Amino acid sequence: MMMSGTEIHRRKVSVVENLHKVQRAAFAAARESGREESSVTVVAVTKTHTVDSINPLLAAGHRVFGESRVQEARAKWLALRHRYPDICLHMIGPLQINKVRMAVSLFDVIETVDRPRLAALLAQEMQCQTRWPDCLIQVNTGDEPQKTGVRLKDADTFIKTCSAEWNLPIRGLMCIPPLNEEPAFHFALLREIARRHSLQTLSMGMSHDFTIAIRLGATHVRVGTAILGDRDRR
Ligand SMILES: *Cc1c(COP(=O)(O)O)cnc(C)c1O
Repeated sequence: MMMSGTEIHRRKVSVVENLHKVQRAAFAAARESGREESSVTVVAVTKTHTVDSINPLLAAGHRVFGESRVQEARAKWLALRHRYPDICLHMIGPLQINKVRMAVSLFDVIETVDRPRLAALLAQEMQCQTRWPDCLIQVNTGDEPQKTGVRLKDADTFIKTCSAEWNLPIRGLMCIPPLNEEPAFHFALLREIARRHSLQTLSMGMSHDFTIAIRLGATHVRVGTAILGDRDRR
C-alpha cells in the first residue's frame, strides 16, 4: 500500500503524539502509586515496524526500544546506533541458541533469559566479547506449557543459578501474562518473586495493561501498538 506525502507526515506526528500520551499515562500511574516518574521507563516496541516509523521517535528524543527478533533488530538498529550512540536496545523475544553471539553484540538488555543452556551460553559469549548486557529472567507466570519463560516451580533455583554459577548480570524479571487472564495477578506474582531475590527491575505491562503493571511495580513497560499502531500479522 502506497502512502501519500501527507499521510506519511500525519503518521510521523501521530507516533510521537502516541508516545507522549503513553508517557503521560505511565508517569501518572507512577505518581498515583507514590513513585517517582523517573522510576518508570517506556520501552517502545518496534518489531515489524520500519526505520521510517522509528525515526520520528528518535528525533523526538526517545532512546529505549524493544525488538523480538535478532536478525530483524540487527538490520534496523546497527545503522541507527551509529547516529544515536545512546540508544538502549532491549531483546524481548525468545532467544535461540544460534543467535546468542549476535544478541550479545547488539542488545543492551536481554529480557528473555529462561533456560540453563541459554544462560550458560550467554555467559560464555559475554566473556568472549567482554560485553555484559543487563539480563532479565523471563518467568512463565501462567505456567503455560507451550510458552517460553522459566516455569514457576523452577524459577527460584534458576534465578539463583544464573548469578551464582554463570555470573550473569541479572537485574530483574520479565513476564507476559496469559492472554485471557487478569494480568494484575501475574504482575503481583512477578513482583513477589523479584522481592524474594532482591531484584530491582520488573519488565511487565504492554499496550493494554501498562498502567496496571506500573501500579504493581513495573519499572519497564513494553509498549508497541499504542505507540506505533497495528502490526501486520506474522
Ligand atoms: C510485541 C510485544 C510487546 C508489545 O505489545 P503491544 O501489545 O503491541 O504493546 C510487548 N512485549 C513483548 C514480549 C512483545 O513481544
